[in-house]
Amino acid sequence: MSVLVVGSIALDTVKTPVEEHADLLGGSASYAALSASFFSPVRLVGVVGSDFPPTEFDFWKERHIDTEGVQRVEGKTFRWSGEYAWDLNTRETRSVALNVFEHFKPALPGSYRKSDFVLLANIAPALQIHVLDQMEKPRFVVADTMDLWIETTRADLDALIPRVDLLILNDSEARQMTKETSLIRAGRAIRKMGARYVAIKKGEHGALLFGENDFFSCGAYPLEDIHDPTGAGDTFAGGIAGYLAGNVKTVHFADLRKAMIYGSVLASFTVEAFSLERLRSLTMKDVEARYEVFKQMSQFEVSQT
Ligand code: AMP
Repeated sequence: MSVLVVGSIALDTVKTPVEEHADLLGGSASYAALSASFFSPVRLVGVVGSDFPPTEFDFWKERHIDTEGVQRVEGKTFRWSGEYAWDLNTRETRSVALNVFEHFKPALPGSYRKSDFVLLANIAPALQIHVLDQMEKPRFVVADTMDLWIETTRADLDALIPRVDLLILNDSEARQMTKETSLIRAGRAIRKMGARYVAIKKGEHGALLFGENDFFSCGAYPLEDIHDPTGAGDTFAGGIAGYLAGNVKTVHFADLRKAMIYGSVLASFTVEAFSLERLRSLTMKDVEARYEVFKQMSQFEVSQT
């Protein structure tokens, strides 16, 4: 089954303590769509400007990412620039230029409206709602968000959450949103705001998943070489939504546990290189090999024989 992915498509400039690269393909939807495409066909919704490389559309087609919902308009593509500290975890946004994003109103092609699985990747919650309003009856809605929206458009976010099956956010955002120091309390509090399931990402320390009477905690893949953490969260969300769309009819907690591991596997590859470079050359065989490592790593009752 296809998954509809809406979010930002960007040209990023990223600086780490050792490297800096400009005009890289980025954006929440770019990462999420490519990640999801490992498991299911994707219907992409977004906007790009006239400066956007047309070759990217050929690549998306190759990867079964439908671009009928991507608007190409006069003007510049959304640009974001960020700089990482030595821990490669703390990030400062250096600049944001909305450009063609400023007047973006996603209009879903007719063929997209019946999608059963939806990923509202990180964009303004009002746009996420606008997309949901055009959907017929999605079976499972995943949404990602960020600190900016919690600070500036909280009412929109509060209106979105009850319409979401799985809300994904990181640890500091969960604390910011609930004013709780404990992530366990924060996860439960966000469920009370209306999301059926909540996933809280903890960067290199893994992720937590909350359901009504269920809880799951997974680690992160132990990576030695991280080059660029940008897009890890979007890739995680894309892997989850793609896995569910491609493999599950009715989503249960056990499916979400597995989806979280696939999301973590995909994210662990993304950070090995700048932009989407590692995902471009990645194969399903690489994904399955790392999934097996996760499985081995999380067993604690090991027989001695
Ligand atoms: P992440 O590292 O998962 O937080 O995602 C980084 C990506 O988010 C970058 O490729 C940016 O282009 C994109 N991004 C940054 N700020 C925004 C924003 N305000 N709205 C949508 N996308 C954004």
